[in-house]
Amino acid sequence: MAKINDNYLKLKAGYLFPEIGRRVREFAAANPEAKVIRLGIGDVTRPLAPAVLKAFHDAVDDLATTQNFAGYGPEQGYDWLINAIIDKSYKPLGVELKTEEMFISDGSKCDCANILDIFALDNVVAIGDPVYPVYNDTNVMIGRTGEADEKGYYKGVVYLPCTEENNFIPALPKEKVDIIYLCFPNNPTGTVASKAELKKWVDYANANDCVIFFDAAYEAFITNPEIPHSIYEIEGAKKCAIEFRSFSKTAGFTGVRCGLVVVPEEVMGTTSTGEKYSFNKLWLRRTTTKFNGASYPVQRAAAAVYSDEGWAQTKEIIDYYMENARIIREGLKEAGITCYGGVDAPYIWLKTPGGMSSWDFFDKLLKECNVVGTPGSGFGPSGEGFFRLSAFGHRENVIEAVERIKKNLK
Ligand SMILES: *Cc1c(COP(=O)(O)O)cnc(C)c1O
Repeated sequence: MAKINDNYLKLKAGYLFPEIGRRVREFAAANPEAKVIRLGIGDVTRPLAPAVLKAFHDAVDDLATTQNFAGYGPEQGYDWLINAIIDKSYKPLGVELKTEEMFISDGSKCDCANILDIFALDNVVAIGDPVYPVYNDTNVMIGRTGEADEKGYYKGVVYLPCTEENNFIPALPKEKVDIIYLCFPNNPTGTVASKAELKKWVDYANANDCVIFFDAAYEAFITNPEIPHSIYEIEGAKKCAIEFRSFSKTAGFTGVRCGLVVVPEEVMGTTSTGEKYSFNKLWLRRTTTKFNGASYPVQRAAAAVYSDEGWAQTKEIIDYYMENARIIREGLKEAGITCYGGVDAPYIWLKTPGGMSSWDFFDKLLKECNVVGTPGSGFGPSGEGFFRLSAFGHRENVIEAVERIKKNLK
């Protein structure tokens, strides 16, 4: 009989969102008159920007003509999209990238998982806690870890607690690690890292021969002009960092699917015989073998985000979500609740009142306000006592949810 990949059995059952679903269904069944507002899931709600939609439609029409028909494109993405991103999104930051250093994909979740293919299994990884669960679980699946302990920490992984005490920015690891995951603006905590803080990580990575995986899925939500949008704004980062970006939150592509990875040519690893080798070459090889490119109309739609019209419309949608974030943040403060994030990120990370557990607060919020959020403990043990609200909802729902919280939780 064929053998399974046993590493999958080490995974804790996908507990967080199914458990939220179960509790909400149970509540709704018992309280059919309650209008439940969901500020839990990290999915967008606004339609695509009109200029993006038009480019998408036009590209579909291309496929209907012999003249403009597009079949297989380059596996790593079309140059017209890559160059638009470099010109509009990196050059203004003072970051120079070569076309060959950027790879277009069908989303960042896949990229974060697939990048592990080109790294040896005996690398040690450092992961934040709380964290986007994909970083942890993909390392378990590929076989880099042992079993989980009762807290949910897997053997062999170095966890970096992000707590109120360290402003949700982890301390440098004490043990020798080879790969460090960083996500700023952060999901779930909504925290951002200043240039000085990122410099600390880049210097550490270069001094200790580590590679940083920098997840910038939320860079478009940064409002403070001092906060870096890309890790390559930090000197030396091109020698040690791989950056992930996504159109999902930036341009409402969660259902359309498009992302990108930057693998600078200077990021090096060593072969088992001790020679230096470029990760860019490996990633190109992997991409051309295992992927056939993001779809043509999707890449056309993505390129339209960088047209003048598309850019302005996309910015308006982001402003809409950030106004939601402001409403939530200020409402929580009025209700006497301590909260973080929501200024340069679409997530508000609140401290549960009275030291309540994350799940107890979930139940209280659902019962007393009919509002659904996400328990912080679901993102890792250090998330206990915290709770995530998302700013991706409809405005009228956000306003009503905040009114209910102010009325019932004060
Ligand atoms: C939403 C999100 C992504 C984007 O995933 P896609 O697969 O591109 O939709 C990446 N990283 C984090 C932390 C996210 O929250």
